[in-house]
Amino acid sequence: MAFRNNRMRDESEHGRERRERREAQVRKVRTCRFCDTKEIYIDYKDEKKLHRFITEQGKIIPKRITGTCAKHQRQLVLAIKRARHLALLPFVSDAIK
Ligand SMILES: [Zn+2]
Repeated sequence: MAFRNNRMRDESEHGRERRERREAQVRKVRTCRFCDTKEIYIDYKDEKKLHRFITEQGKIIPKRITGTCAKHQRQLVLAIKRARHLALLPFVSDAIK
């Protein structure tokens, strides 16, 4: 972005601009929240935290949306399933608005 008006390399200008635009579009928070906080264990009793990773219908949100890494997504899925078994989280919810 900083060198947007720098026209030194004309032949690559078009490709770079296109790439920049695409990055701006896809710019979302793509970091694993569990890696950020350096959590070792995802607690299945922490329903408030787990609630952020399920939809209103009660489905588990895929890692491509939340940005959770593969390792933590596996732990998260296990935690959500345990929480469902304990009725902390819904298997399915019909909260239609
Ligand atoms: Zn992670």
